[in-house]
Amino acid sequence: MHTAIVGVIAGLAIAQVAILITTIYLHRSLSHKAVTFDRRIALFFRFLLWITTGIRPRQWVAVHRKHHAFTDIPGDPHSPVVLGFYKVQFGNVYYYRKEALRSETVAKYAKDLQPDRWDEILFDHSLVGLAIGISILILVGGWRLALVASIVHIVAYLGLSGAINAVGHSFGKRPYDNLATNNTWLALMTFGEGLHNNHHAAPTAAKLSFDSKEIDLAWPIISLLVRLHLATVRLSAPKFKRQPAR
Ligand SMILES: [Zn+2]
Ligand SMILES: [Zn+2]
Repeated sequence: MHTAIVGVIAGLAIAQVAILITTIYLHRSLSHKAVTFDRRIALFFRFLLWITTGIRPRQWVAVHRKHHAFTDIPGDPHSPVVLGFYKVQFGNVYYYRKEALRSETVAKYAKDLQPDRWDEILFDHSLVGLAIGISILILVGGWRLALVASIVHIVAYLGLSGAINAVGHSFGKRPYDNLATNNTWLALMTFGEGLHNNHHAAPTAAKLSFDSKEIDLAWPIISLLVRLHLATVRLSAPKFKRQPAR
């Protein structure tokens, strides 16, 4: 097959892996404690996140918890209601970095995630992680494939992350009484994250789909890890912040 096509497929696959780790590990586990993973699995997730995104978990968690504390009001790091839809959809990474680099945000919202030995040696060195990820791609498929895959991955990961924060607070269904929205198409592309109205209604729920018509593709993976005794889910049913509107 043509290198460019393989590169596009590889880039999309890497983006999906990064989105899966983002939702189940950074979001559901570290930010909201909805699910806890076995130490070895958590370390594997940290490693995958490091080589695919370079994200520092405590920074991501702090920015995200601040988003929940100030949802769609001044203080929200990436609200389309406050900043405008296009700024968040296309500039999400800028707003993320701006907040993530504020040491007071990390100190206040990620107290429970102090840097450990792994962070000091590996995971706090974002560029080293990304360099390892790109090196693996070059070794496996050559530099042309690595270049195409990296560009596709960056565009897909940043585009979908932006969509969760921008589309997920602008367009779609609002079955529960909050400003976030549910979008089936976005949920299918982001392992359930597109069910963002559900998430804001019950942030500690490990499963983001609340009825049989909604699809959270991360849930079967979490369930499998639970069955293998590699994960523990905190709540057996969603605990709503307010009374549901439906
Ligand atoms: Zn949100
Ligand atoms: Zn959240």
